[in-house]
Amino acid sequence: MPTSSESPTSPGLFEAVVNLCKRRGFVFPSAEIYGGIRSTYDYGPLGALMLRNVREAWWRAMIQERDDVVPIDAAILTNPKVWEASGHLATFTDPLVDCRNCKERWRADQIEDVCPNCGSKDLTEARPFNLMFKTYVGPVEAESSVAYLRPETAQGMFVNFLNVLTTMRRKPPFGIAQIGRAFRNEITPGNFVFRTREFELMELEFFVPPADSPRWHEYWCEQRLAWYTRYGIASEKLRLRPHEKEELSHYSAGTTDVEFAFPWGWGELEGIANRTDFDLRAHQEASGTSLEYFDQATGENYLPHVVEPAAGATRAMMAFLLAAYDEDEIGGERRAVLRLHPRLAPYQVAVLPLSKKDTLATLSREVLHRLQRHFMCEFDETQSIGRRYRRQDEIGTPYCVTIDFESLEDRQVTVRDRDSTSQTRLPIEDIVAHLLGCFDT
Ligand code: ATP
Repeated sequence: MPTSSESPTSPGLFEAVVNLCKRRGFVFPSAEIYGGIRSTYDYGPLGALMLRNVREAWWRAMIQERDDVVPIDAAILTNPKVWEASGHLATFTDPLVDCRNCKERWRADQIEDVCPNCGSKDLTEARPFNLMFKTYVGPVEAESSVAYLRPETAQGMFVNFLNVLTTMRRKPPFGIAQIGRAFRNEITPGNFVFRTREFELMELEFFVPPADSPRWHEYWCEQRLAWYTRYGIASEKLRLRPHEKEELSHYSAGTTDVEFAFPWGWGELEGIANRTDFDLRAHQEASGTSLEYFDQATGENYLPHVVEPAAGATRAMMAFLLAAYDEDEIGGERRAVLRLHPRLAPYQVAVLPLSKKDTLATLSREVLHRLQRHFMCEFDETQSIGRRYRRQDEIGTPYCVTIDFESLEDRQVTVRDRDSTSQTRLPIEDIVAHLLGCFDT
């Protein structure tokens, strides 16, 4: 049994997780052989697997386990009129200040009137800086071909509201959900993948009768907080924080953030906004298409109000990693272990033949193929079994299945649990059912 010891805390925790991400193939600086590009990252094999699991955990809770939400997958480049109508062209800005001394640029709301780089107080007046990336569609770089990379996925859902309403025969309350890349030309990206210029959003637009929006806002705050604890973050590391009036986005009548205790302090994981009918009304006016819903029960037309939980997948992944990182001791030996939820871990099962000898190869492959139909598996037959367990612990693999020489006789294998390190011997025929039972959350 492992003996628990003090887990590293900030700033050691942050460094330990960032190092592990690089060393074990979760996250690499982008285009590292060219010296990278500031605060841009590529997700390596384990990061790509984990990010996919974060998306799937969200998809499961927000779409699969409900009967009132449908998904879409909208284009990243769309008609620029969308961003004009939504208010993003005019108001999706952060206040930018320049330091006259060292020429660094900062977000005025993130510094205390003094340059964090050189300490100078000689700063310019704050001016609005639009965060949308601009590009051109087609071969001509003219004003008429300007387009923007989407800074949020939400607008794709508003402009498709009518299509979804009619094709899916929905009525409020119902939701449209989407996962996808978003782009913001952040003034000061940083803290690893916490703030990057390209990131992934998981957003739900939940359309409700106007009078019901406060109740649904409260409902979604509770649901979203519970999602993070369901997938393994301790509740004391999470909190809900309602926005002050002056913090609210241009479209919001009320926003509450789900925050996580990052090593540097509380930071936002997700914003749950009451967007009212701001977006549907804006698109109705700008497009000239009625986006009202006709309620047959009351005989009234109305524009639904929208409650929007908007979460960052990449930022959530970082929080899950920070929350899962632990160090303990087994038999006097220190180990690093990621206590990730089994559904979030890059690999759910590692298949480990005790020896590289040919005699074990056929049976080991048989076990691997059985498991691969249900789980993401890693097959590893090199080094001592103890070292292989340590490697799997460090990347969060919840179960290791070991095939030994006795397995050839009795067709049983050993299943080792990452957290308790306990080992159970089971017939090969039963391991899939056994492991599926362990994942049933
Ligand atoms: P901030 O005020 O920190 O810039 P925001 O309040 O504008 O963020 P939202 O528009 O509410 O952020 O975005 C929803 C979610 O998307 C955030 O809670 C976060 O998880 C994620 N997110 C936003 N910007 C970034 C970014 N630059 N990098 C990574 N994730 C981000």
